[in-house]
Amino acid sequence: MNKKDVEFFKTLIAKEKENLLDKLGYLRENAMNTTVKDATGDHSSYSFHMADQGTDSQEREKAFLFASRESQYFERLELALKRLDEGTFGICVKCQKLIDRERLEAVPIATMCVDCKTEKKKAL
Ligand SMILES: [Zn+2]
Repeated sequence: MNKKDVEFFKTLIAKEKENLLDKLGYLRENAMNTTVKDATGDHSSYSFHMADQGTDSQEREKAFLFASRESQYFERLELALKRLDEGTFGICVKCQKLIDRERLEAVPIATMCVDCKTEKKKAL
């Protein structure tokens, strides 16, 4: 992978991170609004409130699950950036072959080539 490619994927991943942070920021804002609305001024009762609200806490739980999945994705984007710096980006972690450029453009966090990924699925 040449310098130009590295720059290309760095930009791609940076954009992806920005989108993700936007999304997470939106979620956090929503969660904060709910907290403010529920707040009684007593912070120790927070956990009680969390358990006490039916649908509302379910909604929040969903948002939390979503956020944790997103933050996992964020970590994988970070890893992809690290791999770019290390020069291992685009190399399959299993067979050390180059991952298809098309695949990387579609899934910049991919660490395995299609063959190995398929193989892994079969094994499962
Ligand atoms: Zn492979």
